[in-house]
Amino acid sequence: EKSKLRLPPWLKTEIPIGKNYNKLKNTLRELNLHTVCEEARCPNIGECWGGGEYATSTATIMLMGDTCTRGCRFCSVKTARRPPPLDPEEPYNTAKAIAAWGLDYVVLTSVDRDDIPDGGAEHFAKTVSNLKERNPKILVECLTPDFRGDLAAVEKIALSGLDVYAHNVETVRDLQRHVRDPRANFDQSLSVLRHAKKVKPSVLTKTSIMLGLGETDAQIHAALKELWDAGVDCLTLGQYMQPTKRHLKVEEYVTPEKFAYWEKVGQEMGFVYTASGPLVSSF
Ligand code: SF4
Repeated sequence: EKSKLRLPPWLKTEIPIGKNYNKLKNTLRELNLHTVCEEARCPNIGECWGGGEYATSTATIMLMGDTCTRGCRFCSVKTARRPPPLDPEEPYNTAKAIAAWGLDYVVLTSVDRDDIPDGGAEHFAKTVSNLKERNPKILVECLTPDFRGDLAAVEKIALSGLDVYAHNVETVRDLQRHVRDPRANFDQSLSVLRHAKKVKPSVLTKTSIMLGLGETDAQIHAALKELWDAGVDCLTLGQYMQPTKRHLKVEEYVTPEKFAYWEKVGQEMGFVYTASGPLVSSF
C-alpha cells in the first residue's frame, strides 16, 4: 500500500512565479474566470504564465464554472450533480479579457455540464464568435466535453469559427472505465472527433492520451490507430500525474526516451502533429 513511485528527475521542475503570473491571475479573479491550469494544478503553470518559453502568448481558460457534473478518477476538479447556473455574461466577458491580453492562441475548455440540455455547446460557440469578432487573428482551440455523444452539440462548436477542435480520449480503450467517469467511453469520444472533422474538414481535430496509468504498448498502438482512422489530426501524449492521494495512482513514470518513441510512431502514422513528452499537458 505504502509503496509509492518516486518522482524521476525529469519531472522535478522549479515553478517560477513571475509578474505575468500574478497579472493573469488577477484579471481571472476579477472576471470570475477559471483556468484548468489552476483547477487541475498543472505543474507547468509557472512556466506557461510566468514568461517562460511560451510566455503568455497562450492560455487555457475554463468556461462554465469550476464545478463538474462528472468525477473522473484522474481529475481534481470539484464535482456536484447541480453546479451553479451558467453565467450568461461569460461568453462576452471572456472574449473581452482574452482579446485584451493580446494572446496568439487560446484554449477554451470547460467542465462537463450534464445538467444543461445542450451541455453548454451554445455557450462555447458564443464565446468563440465573440472572440473572433474582436480579434480575427487569434487562433482558438476548444477542448470540449463529449456532450454524451450529442452530435448536434459537437456541430454547433465545430461551426463556431474555431481553428482546433480538441476532445480527449484520455487513455487507451481498455482503461476507459477505470480512469474516466462511467458516462464517458472510447467510442463516444471517437464519434465526437469524427463528427467535428466531418462537418468542418478545415478544422484540425486533436486528442490527448495520458501515459503511466498501466496501459501496455499494444494498447497504445491500437489507440493511435483508431484515432488515425477516425480522422484525428493532432495527438499529444503526456505523463499522468496524481493530483491528490484520493486519485488514481501513477503506475509508471514513462521515460523521455519512450515518449520520444511514441512521438515517432505518431509522425510515421501520419498525424499532422504529434507532441509527446513527460511534461506535455493534455489541455
Ligand atoms: Fe475533470 Fe472528468 Fe469533469 Fe473533465 S469531465 S473536468 S476530466 S471530472
